[in-house]
Amino acid sequence: MILLKTKEEIALIRDAGQLLGKCIAEVGKHVRPGITTAYLDQIGEQYIRDHGAKPLCKGFEGFPSAFCISVNEVVVHGIPSELFLKEGDNVSIDCVIEYNGYVADSSYTFAVGEVKPEVRRLMKVTREALYIGLDQCKVGNRVGDISHAVQMHCEKNGYSVVRELCGHGVGFKMHEDPSVPNFGVKGTGPLLKEGMVLAVEPMVCMGSKNVVFSKEDGWTCSTRDRKPAAHYEHTVAITPEGPDILTTFDFIEKNIKES
Ligand code: MG
Ligand code: MG
Repeated sequence: MILLKTKEEIALIRDAGQLLGKCIAEVGKHVRPGITTAYLDQIGEQYIRDHGAKPLCKGFEGFPSAFCISVNEVVVHGIPSELFLKEGDNVSIDCVIEYNGYVADSSYTFAVGEVKPEVRRLMKVTREALYIGLDQCKVGNRVGDISHAVQMHCEKNGYSVVRELCGHGVGFKMHEDPSVPNFGVKGTGPLLKEGMVLAVEPMVCMGSKNVVFSKEDGWTCSTRDRKPAAHYEHTVAITPEGPDILTTFDFIEKNIKES
């Protein structure tokens, strides 16, 4: 069942989303060669708790950490570890927080130092696909319009989109209806209505769309061909005025620009 949110509830989800944007920005400041992903997780979790919020991934179906940190060929759900980041890696930092009872979900893919031009391009196109998908988040459209727009932009640029995982409703809980796939057919799927809040999150592969899930941890989702992937995510509300993005990359990208 799709749960609609009131204007007041959307304002509270925005509060969570803005805090989440600052939190990912704080973690992002520490992304550099020689740092471990466990350390990034620790900084982020501290930030979340210091600001009175709760990291919802931690403990979710046994997931061990506050953040999903996914490096290079890991698409999503990477578990922070003692792995050191190195120059040229790309790393997606994905987090869900609850703040004052409301939930926001966002992810950003960072470059570790200088990445190869083809990785830079993958990141750019994935970020573009997110905003192209968000543009479709309008009253009267359907979920398939978002899915189709994301898929077309990625495939037009020579990339593929993951089929096994998708975006979702969010706001009261971490995962709500509907599912928001990154592939699909225009004009199909649930109708977008005022008050719906969605997490739109293109998961884009440089090579083939096939992924494998780690047999050891049950979570880590990697490309089968071990080529890089990227992942960006925003939480967005459907309003009569159009898409209202409740999370933000502003703090993240201000830091990147200044560094
Ligand atoms: Mg997420
Ligand atoms: Mg999500």
